[in-house]
Amino acid sequence: MKNNHLTDEILQTLLLNEVQDEIVDKHISECQVCQEKMKNYQFLFTSIKKVEPETFSFDVTSLVMEKIYEVEIKKEKNANIALYMCLSIILIIVFILLYPYVKTIFSQFKSSSIMANAFMMVSSLGVTIFLLKDIYRQYKRKEMLILQ
Ligand SMILES: [Zn+2]
Repeated sequence: MKNNHLTDEILQTLLLNEVQDEIVDKHISECQVCQEKMKNYQFLFTSIKKVEPETFSFDVTSLVMEKIYEVEIKKEKNANIALYMCLSIILIIVFILLYPYVKTIFSQFKSSSIMANAFMMVSSLGVTIFLLKDIYRQYKRKEMLILQ
């Protein structure tokens, strides 16, 4: 028995559950190595019991959640960039395909005066910007609703 030391598991259960076993008790009382181990475990367990749970002066949960939201928004932004790139590529392809028709539309503008053309350009640009801004505002409102 002298050379057959007690395992760490046996020592731990002995300390935690205070199980009594004659063979184990006998071994501990005779073996210096196991006594030393037992002492170390005893010290460790009492130290663990003394340690108080960590307290923070700030709200950890909200901080962590904030970080998670930041990462999610970043991911979403990356997805949006990919979407815009796809849309612009599609627009370019559509423009190339429709070029003959677009050319005839532009040839219509040549017949009217410069002032009329400028007026049409500015008004259509204004309407487009207004519509895009409105779409963006709606998108932002929905985003806020989702994040709440
Ligand atoms: Zn031993």
